[in-house]
Amino acid sequence: MIACGVRFDSETVLQLRRGIMKRGQVLSTLLSEVLAGKTPAAVAQLPGTPGMRPEEKLRMALDQVEARRKLIDADDDKFGRCDICGEDLGLPALGELPWADRCAAHAAQ
Ligand SMILES: [Zn+2]
Repeated sequence: MIACGVRFDSETVLQLRRGIMKRGQVLSTLLSEVLAGKTPAAVAQLPGTPGMRPEEKLRMALDQVEARRKLIDADDDKFGRCDICGEDLGLPALGELPWADRCAAHAAQ
């Protein structure tokens, strides 16, 4: 049974995990489009450093999604917390972006 510590009930974890998996599929599709020579508009909204190529941004986003999936599957308390300061991101924010790994204060870094 998947349950993420004491912070989320198992149904919530399943929903969050589903959101993470869906995000991974979206990013994979975008990556294959980029590799096919297209320029999907959604890639411009992904975080990244200036000068980063679209496929690098997508691979970074995919790595993030995969890392979060591992945390949720491992029932790790780090899931749903900021990687930098450990702040609980809260269910409303995680409902929007279940793969989030930074609080608002650290999101830009
Ligand atoms: Zn933080």
